[in-house]
Amino acid sequence: MAYDENNIFAKILRGEIPCDKVHENSHALAFKDINPQAAIHVLVIPKGAYVDLTDFSANASAEEIAGFIRTVGETARILGMTTDGYRALTNIGEFGRQEVPHLHIHLFGGQQLGRMIKPPEK
Ligand code: 5GP
Repeated sequence: MAYDENNIFAKILRGEIPCDKVHENSHALAFKDINPQAAIHVLVIPKGAYVDLTDFSANASAEEIAGFIRTVGETARILGMTTDGYRALTNIGEFGRQEVPHLHIHLFGGQQLGRMIKPPEK
């Protein structure tokens, strides 16, 4: 899939839409999900234009990959999630129910989390 420059996270990165920022560096931006599914629900996105993890893992530079993954871990530490634990998840494509076509890692925590995969909604 070609990258859509008008996806909502691209607009957030360009500052065209506000976000509730948690962390930022040259590689990535972390902000609160607008529709939280847990007590803590934060999204971490790379600054580069990558559709999903498949695209990122194939096409990003080693520096971008290291910088992004380190920022995911930094964000979890900033959020105070590392002692009790948390979940990091990325949805990919149709079967993964990805809604926004810019790579994002969901960080869920601040509570006991349920089963990892629920049956699909009808
Ligand atoms: P996906 O299903 O693509 O993995 O998840 C997309 C996530 O982005 C959803 O959890 C949704 O609530 C969140 N989201 C969609 N639009 C916005 C927005 O404008 N701002 C923020 N902060 N989150 C958004």
